[in-house]
Amino acid sequence: MHSFVYEAQPMRVRFGAGAIDELRDELTAIGATKAVVITTPEQQELGERVNGLLGPAGLGVYPHATMHVPASIIDDALAFIRGAGADAVLCAGGGSTTGLGKALALRSDLPIIAVPTTYAGSEMTPIWGITDDGVKRTGRDERVLPRSVIYDPELTVGLPVAISVTSGLNAVAHAVEGLYAPDASPIISLMAAEGVDKMLGALPAVVTDPADLDARADALYAAWLCGATLGATTMGLHHKLCHILGGSFNLPHAETHAVVLPYVMAYNLTAAPAAREALQRATGSSDPGTAVAKLGRDLGVPASLSELGMPEDGIAEVVRQAVDSPYSNPREVTEADLRGLLTAAYTGDDPRGDYR
Ligand code: NAD
Repeated sequence: MHSFVYEAQPMRVRFGAGAIDELRDELTAIGATKAVVITTPEQQELGERVNGLLGPAGLGVYPHATMHVPASIIDDALAFIRGAGADAVLCAGGGSTTGLGKALALRSDLPIIAVPTTYAGSEMTPIWGITDDGVKRTGRDERVLPRSVIYDPELTVGLPVAISVTSGLNAVAHAVEGLYAPDASPIISLMAAEGVDKMLGALPAVVTDPADLDARADALYAAWLCGATLGATTMGLHHKLCHILGGSFNLPHAETHAVVLPYVMAYNLTAAPAAREALQRATGSSDPGTAVAKLGRDLGVPASLSELGMPEDGIAEVVRQAVDSPYSNPREVTEADLRGLLTAAYTGDDPRGDYR
């Protein structure tokens, strides 16, 4: 076994159907007494419910979280939270809501409790992102980690099937890149492989019956494992490309991950034998990239970047940005490789190990 460094994250997790009912205990467990709940406008109703569960400790809902955490919203949310006199923030929602909570923790040192309702996995990472003047800055800081995470699969039953699938594949992407990351460790790889296995098993069942609580629980558990993998390792080509694609063409986050993932898997797994073996076991296929592409198509994932609205002449721009900024990757990536990979993802061609 190779040498490695493993650093455990200091986080509490409460998991299970109905876990949200124990919210007040979680607030006490982190040493807080009064909280403001933050949500997106679409999930304000959930926010009101959660605020109600807090009883007198619930100081209200701030329902203005939006994708990519605009800096102006951080100031506005902070004014609301300070005005209310809260000593904690409760983020109820997906990665956008957790993202605002993290930005608040970064700015104010207020502790956050995350109640994830998608499979993005942000609640398990010390990675924050803030968008200012159209530019998204990201960084890692332990202060943004939620003190507690409440995973309640009942809260994910209403997550539309299409978002469930793309969000689930977003989680799988975290695990895939963690398996071949330069700082991978045996413990994290166990979590990553289990995360992929559980998520790929759960998604078809969620599509068949979105109210299947066992499947929802498996998917949420998988999201936890995959998110923890992302939090512990360095991202590679896949996350780099999705970041550029999202930032340059405003493509939807989870869908972009779901479309791009099989192409990067097919390319990178030729140079990452341990990750390939783990993913062969998890997918039950000798060709994990193709298996994930097929599953995605069977479950209704858009077939191509063109379907997501990327302009064809954007490929050159993505290649330029990816070549200009360094990232870790198990396989060397030339401009020609990148152009081939992105062209295949753009048109929806089958993923291949060689794009030249
Ligand atoms: P999202 O949080 O933007 O949610 C998408 C939509 O689905 C929103 O309208 C939301 O209100 C709604 N929604 C969420 N849960 C729902 C539910 N259970 N039922 C009904 N509607 C629901 O989407 P996301 O994919 O979770 O998050 C994307 C963002 O998270 C991106 O900005 C991405 O960069 C960030 N992210 C960050 C990390 C990290 O480690 N920092 C990791 C993954 C994603």
